[in-house]
Amino acid sequence: MAVPKKKTSKSRRNMRRSHDFIAAPAYNECSNCGELHRPHHVCPACGHYDGREVVATAAA
Ligand SMILES: [Zn+2]
Repeated sequence: MAVPKKKTSKSRRNMRRSHDFIAAPAYNECSNCGELHRPHHVCPACGHYDGREVVATAAA
């Protein structure tokens, strides 16, 4: 088994872990209904994308 030659310092360990966090998902307000939707995704509430309806919903 490979064994580390030197103990990883707190600084090195923490530098390695600086990329480990999970970013919170981004949300934008829908321009049609105002609900929050993910960028570059169809609005789940009204089915609009880029200002027009692309998925038929029960309300429409
Ligand atoms: Zn919407």
